[in-house]
Amino acid sequence: MGHHIVILGAGTAGTLTANRLRRMPGADEYRITVVDQDDDHVYQPGLLFVPFGLAQPHHLVRSRPRQLHSGIDYLQARIEQVDPAARTVRLAGGRRLSYDVLVVASGARLLPEETEGLTGSGWGENVFTFYDLPGAVGLQHALERFDGGRIVIDVADLPVKCPVAPLEFAFLADWYFRRCGSRDRVQLTYATPLDGAFTKPVAAKVLGGLLERKGIELVTEFNLGEVDGRGGRLVAYDGRELPYDLAVVVPLHGGAEYVGRSPGLGDELDFVPVDRRTLQHRDHPEVFAIGDAAGLPASKAGSVAHFEGETLTHNIGRFLRGQPLDGFFDGHTNCFVETGFHKALLIDFNYDTEPLPGHFPATVGLPLLKESYANHLGKLAFEWFYWHSLLPGRELPGIGGQMPEHGKQRVRT
Ligand SMILES: Cc1cc2nc3c(=O)[nH]c(=O)nc-3n(C[C@H](O)[C@H](O)[C@H](O)COP(=O)(O)OP(=O)(O)OC[C@H]3O[C@@H](n4cnc5c(N)ncnc54)[C@H](O)[C@@H]3O)c2cc1C
Repeated sequence: MGHHIVILGAGTAGTLTANRLRRMPGADEYRITVVDQDDDHVYQPGLLFVPFGLAQPHHLVRSRPRQLHSGIDYLQARIEQVDPAARTVRLAGGRRLSYDVLVVASGARLLPEETEGLTGSGWGENVFTFYDLPGAVGLQHALERFDGGRIVIDVADLPVKCPVAPLEFAFLADWYFRRCGSRDRVQLTYATPLDGAFTKPVAAKVLGGLLERKGIELVTEFNLGEVDGRGGRLVAYDGRELPYDLAVVVPLHGGAEYVGRSPGLGDELDFVPVDRRTLQHRDHPEVFAIGDAAGLPASKAGSVAHFEGETLTHNIGRFLRGQPLDGFFDGHTNCFVETGFHKALLIDFNYDTEPLPGHFPATVGLPLLKESYANHLGKLAFEWFYWHSLLPGRELPGIGGQMPEHGKQRVRT
């Protein structure tokens, strides 16, 4: 066997990359090794549902190597460092792997300890994140006990993975307390560093309108500086304060720690800077990045990793054959936004086109930027699609990597 392709991380992006490479013509000519530190592949979109009792934690976790096609080597070890000059990866215990192509797919790391006071008094009692499994489970118990008062949902800073998930949490919290009959005793506030409910104007208007209709207060340009756990206050850098009885915080995100220890691999946040269209590292041509680990102006979402996968594996093939790369990743992102009461809306966008109304994937299809039961079913179906199509590296018929233009309505804001 010839070339050795090493993939760092066996989450969404690493798994689908390995499986796609294994399915490519000529795959027997290279060896694929995937490295991850544990054996728990968590279906992260399901974390949103755990606090509301809508998903069982143990149903969200599966074995990592069992998601990989045969012929792919799986190594369970912590990655310590990459030496791009020597083309080697050092693992915990001292083992070294040499590579011809390296794919960084080690995701984003939650950094709650980087915000003053966040992991201090109240953390795990009335201050939570639902972005990992222990936090989501703790929050479920906290919501069950919650008898009224002020809940603040706060995004500490960007970038975060799945930027719509905290909004979905706010919508579901409204639904949850209405169903419990206690909504009139619960004040819900959504605080964001953005100047609206979402980054792009058309979607910000629609999502901001939904918050308003559901009686959820929107606080914008709130950059979290400190959590005062004893006083029950979130404090922004500009001095504004938000009192809470229960705080749900999406903490700061950074890339994997080892990226920072690897000379010339990452940026100041430990994400890996790659070309936005080819996914190739700016300084090391044999290094690529995919998924949350990539320092790109695209959303950090599983759907994005799926769309990137097509470009990445195509380009790895071209790189190994000594051919010039093709730059066809366009930043395509596609997300269902659960809004409660068995409804969801769908957003579809890329680097150049913001989320617009219309239909997906063509003039007939699921409604865009509009609540519907069909979109809610789409959100639920995504879990099946994730395990059975996205991770195995299959295409969805009729939905390619590039954002479809048909079906989108251009609107004035
Ligand atoms: C609450 C929530 C809701 C979401 N909802 C959606 C949704 O509805 N739709 C959607 O498309 N996306 C959603 N996402 C985002 C999606 O889950 C992520 O974007 C996706 O999982 C990213 O995949 P990844 O492979 O880049 O990272 P990950 O899946 O996080 O994988 C990274 C892997 O790298 C490994 N790793 C890191 N460092 C090391 C090391 N030093 N040594 C060894 N291994 C290491 C980790 O163990 C991990 O397995 C959601 C995320 C959250 C948190």
